Amino acid sequence: MNRWTPPPPFGTVATDTAAPLDITRLLTTITDNLVGMIYRCRIDAIWTMEYVSEGCHKLTGYRPDELVFNNRVSYGQMTLPEDRERVSRTIHDALEANQTFDVEYRILRADGRVRWVLERGVGLRNAHGQLAWIEGFIQDISERMAANETLHEAVRRYRSLFEHATEGIYQTTPEGRYLNANPALARIYGHASPNALIAHLHDIPRQLYVLPERRVEFVRLMQEQGVVRNFESQVYRHDGRIIWITENARAVKNADGSVQFFEGTVVDITERKQHDAELEYQASHDSLTGLPNRSLLRDRIEQAIGKARRDNHLVAVAFVDLDHFKLINDSLGHHVGDRLLLEVADRLMACVRGHDSVARQGGDEFVIVLTEQHDKNEIISIVGRLLEAISQPWVDEGQEYGLSCSVGISCFPQDGDDPDALLRCADAAMYKAKASGRSTYHFFTPELNQAISERLELENSLRHALERDEFIVYYQPRIEVASGRIVGTEALIRWNCPGKGLIPPDSFIPIAEETGLIIPIGQWILQEACRQNSAWQSAGLLPISISVNLSPIQFRHAGLVDSVAEALAQAGLDPAYLELELTESFVMQDAERINVAMQALKKLGVDIAVDDFGTGYSSLSYLKRFPVDRLKIDKSFVRDIDTDPDDAAIVRAIITLGHALGLKVVAEGVETPAHLEFLQRHGCDELQGYYFSRPVPAAGMEALMRGPENACCHCLATLDTHTASACGCEEQIFE
Ligand code: C2E
Ligand code: CA
Ligand code: CA
Repeated sequence: MNRWTPPPPFGTVATDTAAPLDITRLLTTITDNLVGMIYRCRIDAIWTMEYVSEGCHKLTGYRPDELVFNNRVSYGQMTLPEDRERVSRTIHDALEANQTFDVEYRILRADGRVRWVLERGVGLRNAHGQLAWIEGFIQDISERMAANETLHEAVRRYRSLFEHATEGIYQTTPEGRYLNANPALARIYGHASPNALIAHLHDIPRQLYVLPERRVEFVRLMQEQGVVRNFESQVYRHDGRIIWITENARAVKNADGSVQFFEGTVVDITERKQHDAELEYQASHDSLTGLPNRSLLRDRIEQAIGKARRDNHLVAVAFVDLDHFKLINDSLGHHVGDRLLLEVADRLMACVRGHDSVARQGGDEFVIVLTEQHDKNEIISIVGRLLEAISQPWVDEGQEYGLSCSVGISCFPQDGDDPDALLRCADAAMYKAKASGRSTYHFFTPELNQAISERLELENSLRHALERDEFIVYYQPRIEVASGRIVGTEALIRWNCPGKGLIPPDSFIPIAEETGLIIPIGQWILQEACRQNSAWQSAGLLPISISVNLSPIQFRHAGLVDSVAEALAQAGLDPAYLELELTESFVMQDAERINVAMQALKKLGVDIAVDDFGTGYSSLSYLKRFPVDRLKIDKSFVRDIDTDPDDAAIVRAIITLGHALGLKVVAEGVETPAHLEFLQRHGCDELQGYYFSRPVPAAGMEALMRGPENACCHCLATLDTHTASACGCEEQIFE
């Protein structure tokens, strides 16, 4: 019981009935009820108690009479051994200095429990003036000690958190001086220790933040809201490097509401920011060229339009499409194609100014956004430079390639006022540029929309042409000069498109190639040509060879050899009567790979002809290594053979060259007696052209094969006399 026990009633001093004040009694009462023990002890080794108050029992568990004169136990014994020396020293030091002492130590109670006590005392001298006793007071302070310990433990724990946290933790003045910083913060900011950081960083707004306004914003939020959350900024590290951090902080306020200091945490988010930036870059840039991609392009056009509106300028969107890129990519492989695209990206970049953009739209399509344009002439001069730059020869691994591109241009404001409209118009103009001969540019005009929708319509109808059985094969005979006999025929496809009549191959083969439809279409014509030739043979006609044109796309397609073999087998045609034509420019693109594929075809037993010879850049040595049977001189050389000495020389050279390599030479586009005479004279082996016959349907071809008497009487005659006849000669249809 710790409570004060009231003394027995003896009245109060102030009342009339009061008993006289008995001080001794009063003191005894107090002494006996005191929580703690009043004592007097001797200054000996075991602190022999001469008097202890009643509180002794509560404090030590011993009755006063057990302790006094060490009747049962000495106080010195009761003190824990490990504390005795310290207690003794403290007391003696104080006594010598003639001072009171305070000392805290532990005692072992009678019940075996250890308690913390505080002893407070003073020395007392005997009659001789010698220090002989101590008088004092001892109280139990175990609870206070335990509370202290808890507090210390908590402080230790918080300290450890602070010291070992991975987040930087700080306290700063609102003005920007550090009051406190943990090791993590020092580490993040590149200082050797928190102290070094505190010493060095004394002006946070200017020394730390890359943009001092960020600090201003931070302080503003702190003043207004008392907290900031996920506050991201760039800061300078001690070594000058810039990093990204995010802060969470709060303002600690005084009782009067004024800000005392800021405290908060800092996390280094540089890596995350870099990662985010990389992701964003990847999402907005083309991985091959590093140029802006489609989505960023739209933003750029949008921005350019916004600016042009304010400044009253023009924006030009130029759609740049490489000519024949597909061919290079398909025949030389993607590695060469990729290098070419990189080269083109560099060349385009070199043509524009800093505020313009070059983007890759996909494939071989680039888009250039020209800003701050004043008139069309300015645009034309840039595009002219661009065409010039692209048409420079490109050398890759020792091979030289000629490049060109077609450019379609649309302008803000007249052609549209949003990115999609401008891109659509530029695309349409680009198709027009391609159609008008490539390596040129074309501005958008409203009529182009019509052309574009027609093209789209054509593409759409082409997709169904095969299943709707709309293709027809025409045949053009090849005549052997020596015998004057038809020795072969070239299968030439036509498309009988409902509502549009007979469409010539030049109008749809490029679309078929672009869309990949050339594969099934090519397969169909192979089968049809083989079937037809076999049918003619079965009908007892003199066997002739049939030539089928192959697109480079088909040639690259893995299934080509199989599909040729299949067409032959299905038709039951001897491979010796099938010839495959490949254009020279294609053959030369990737000579080695094509050679391998040609060998595989050759193994089937078919013939191979190099078509449009003279237009590519064949090297003789290559030609020698190819398993080629025929060279077909391009008709552009034959046309002026009798008037242009250059063409004449070229044709003579090709004939000589072909013969030197043991090849048959065929002239295409033979239209006049003069052509015939020249070619005969120079030993050309075979001839093909309107002079003998235009391409005709199978029935017409058959009639030709049966001989002049059954044929369209004019087809093997001169062109002048050629008229429409039973053979269904193409002239009627095309002219
Ligand atoms: P090509 O292989 O060079 O075919 C010869 C072209 O010259 C044919 O045009 C033919 O009609 C034309 N021609 C023939 N004799 C004369 C002449 O005396 N004077 C003139 N000016 N032209 C003559 P066509 O049939 O319009 O074919 C054009 C091109 O389309 C062909 O050129 C060929 O590259 C391609 N082609 C035709 N059919 C097919 C096919 O089935 N598959 C593939 N991949 N391409 C084909
Ligand atoms: Ca041909
Ligand atoms: Ca040709």
